[in-house]
Amino acid sequence: MSYTQANISKRKFDVIIVGAGGSGMRASLQLSRAGLNVAVLSKVFPTRSHTVAAQGGIGASLGNMSDDNWEWHFYDTVKGSDWLGDQDAIEFMCRQAPNAVYELEHFGMPFDRNADGTIYQRPFGGHTANHGEKPVQRACAAADRTGHALLHTLYQKNVEARTQFFVEWMALDLIRDADGDVVGVTALELETGEIYTLQAKATLLATGGAGRIFQASTNAFINTGDGLGMAARAGLPLQDMEFWQFHPTGVAGAGVLLTEGCRGEGAILINSEGERFMERYAPTLKDLAPRDFVSRSMDQEIKEGRGCGPNKDYVLLKLDHLGAETIHKRLPSVFEIGVNFANVDITKEPIPVVPTIHYQMGGIPTNIHGQVVTPDGSGGEKIVGGLYAVGECSCVSVHGANRLGTNSLLDLVVFGRSAGNHITEYSKATAAAKELPANAADFSLSRLNRLESSSSGEYAQDVANDIRTTMQAHAGVFRTQASMDEGVAKIKEVAERVPSIALKDKSKVWNTARMEALEVENLIEVAKATMISAAARHECRGAHSVDDYDRPADDADFPLGRNDKEWMKHTLWYREGNRLDYKPVRLKPLTVPTVPPKPRTF
Ligand SMILES: Cc1cc2nc3c(=O)[nH]c(=O)nc-3n(C[C@H](O)[C@H](O)[C@H](O)COP(=O)(O)OP(=O)(O)OC[C@H]3O[C@@H](n4cnc5c(N)ncnc54)[C@H](O)[C@@H]3O)c2cc1C
Repeated sequence: MSYTQANISKRKFDVIIVGAGGSGMRASLQLSRAGLNVAVLSKVFPTRSHTVAAQGGIGASLGNMSDDNWEWHFYDTVKGSDWLGDQDAIEFMCRQAPNAVYELEHFGMPFDRNADGTIYQRPFGGHTANHGEKPVQRACAAADRTGHALLHTLYQKNVEARTQFFVEWMALDLIRDADGDVVGVTALELETGEIYTLQAKATLLATGGAGRIFQASTNAFINTGDGLGMAARAGLPLQDMEFWQFHPTGVAGAGVLLTEGCRGEGAILINSEGERFMERYAPTLKDLAPRDFVSRSMDQEIKEGRGCGPNKDYVLLKLDHLGAETIHKRLPSVFEIGVNFANVDITKEPIPVVPTIHYQMGGIPTNIHGQVVTPDGSGGEKIVGGLYAVGECSCVSVHGANRLGTNSLLDLVVFGRSAGNHITEYSKATAAAKELPANAADFSLSRLNRLESSSSGEYAQDVANDIRTTMQAHAGVFRTQASMDEGVAKIKEVAERVPSIALKDKSKVWNTARMEALEVENLIEVAKATMISAAARHECRGAHSVDDYDRPADDADFPLGRNDKEWMKHTLWYREGNRLDYKPVRLKPLTVPTVPPKPRTF
């Protein structure tokens, strides 16, 4: 039976939040506490959002265990971003970090403690004292289950504040009115298969990352980039999508993450000769260099024949020297992952690891209040009325071309809170939600009904798998221009197959096949944005490393292939015509001097 206007139900709220991860629930808490009528939609039960899997920690210069201050954190984040991060947003985040963490502590988040009762902090990649001198202890941790502790704390505070959760609901499309303002979303209730239009004064996208566009990923299966697909289909640009982080230590063959906290606690990477090779690549920070750096070094070792195992295709992470007691206390989940996914007892032997896709630095462009912004046509930016985005699906941009570990959990709570505050003011100043246009649900209905009327065609999973193999082969740790160009042609071919995906089982109740088919329509937008933005960027910067543009670190004009003259700018990709546009990086912080660009060595 096809979907018609007649069987669509309507609901109205002050604010709709799509996503119940750390960012969505930090924002919803602020809003519910301010007395607003907030609906939070999630494809899964809130505490199953990917934030729950975060292991290592949340970054803040508390200085509990070694000297630290927010300016050092700010400097490290700018340098980590390879000067693509906006320095005003980075200052905003790093300055607020200590208070954001204390606030979590006061919410009841069960951090590990030092003997004096303060929050335990471990070293993490790229976080240093005094502008790169030595590693600093900045990652506030709850064992290796920091995300679990954070997400459960936020959920409980939201229950207390009476936030309304719509669990196992999938948002489909943004509703924009004739002025271009966002006035709500369409959504599918998975339990019943019913379609709704949800109307609100403000809509906040907090849908998390899209790591499932790659084959080998540390991400949850639900990370299909739905918010990005929704934004792209609504005509909005996606920013800096060429920058994808490979985490150095995914379990080889399984993809499951072993936190950087392992190396924070003292674990080291070794090659087939038993050599601690990071000493050669990053003499100061060694195994604690930023992730793009370590991942490339590992791949280089493998390329040069010093990989381990029968196929010489992984390196080893050695932890046994930490001692069983430290491992069981500080890294209990890592121990379990070793046993369950690699059949390795990490207290006794090293574990095979490979760089594995982990995080998208790009996303929906926003300002520090979470408001979604687009170019205004005369060199500036304009705000998209009624629409906000926070968390991994957004790009504010604090991570630039490479994110430092622990800075994502921080980004979630700092910008979740700031968006919550801005929406509260906006909502109180706005008498009522704008009217829904008469055709509010037409676009979603046409997508749904194409699936309803399909009798034969492609399996959604076949198309999704081809997206993943294409991205894995053409947008990896090391890229070449030829391979990226080929990737663009291939992903466009895969995109042409998406409209012929067929749905065999048309039942309404809990039809996960329908959900998966709709998810592929989001995956493909993210994959196209990534491939096309990547092929157009003719330089090496952060996680975007292209053999053709590689140069020595001491090349005065283009250190390590970075071309600041032409490419210190953000990419904007538009779905229509796969058009690209660019906008400048904001080099001026809010109060402190700019960190001037320089070669990025560690
Ligand atoms: C294994 C792992 C370990 C990590 N460890 C760390 C760490 O130690 N420190 C750190 O700083 N960062 C870490 N990260 C990164 C960090 O955890 C994520 O970037 C962050 O948690 C993302 O949070 P989020 O709120 O943006 O989205 P998520 O937590 O991914 O939540 C997304 C939400 O959106 C909902 N959603 C999505 N699409 C729809 C839709 N169509 N309709 C309705 N709801 C929808 C989902 O149901 C979910 O509730 C880690 C990431 C991974 C994968």
